[in-house]
Amino acid sequence: MKVWIEQEYCTGDGLCADLCPEVFEMDDDGLAHVREEAHPAVEGEQGMFEVSSDFESSVLDAQAQCAGECIYVKL
Ligand code: SF4
Repeated sequence: MKVWIEQEYCTGDGLCADLCPEVFEMDDDGLAHVREEAHPAVEGEQGMFEVSSDFESSVLDAQAQCAGECIYVKL
């Protein structure tokens, strides 16, 4: 599945990193991002990463609870 974050809407509360630390982490700027070292970038799609379906449940949980409603998933 493909995952990306619209960071301009991220509140920086860190919930996604708590719920799914294998995929999300907080950056020095206080915003969430997808762990680039663990998930390959989707070619031609800025900020979009290919994430194993092993993490689908926790990613969808983070998406559902994201205060900024800024986590996007394409299954
Ligand atoms: S849950 Fe949403 S608003 Fe909160 S840190 Fe993650 S992306 Fe940002």
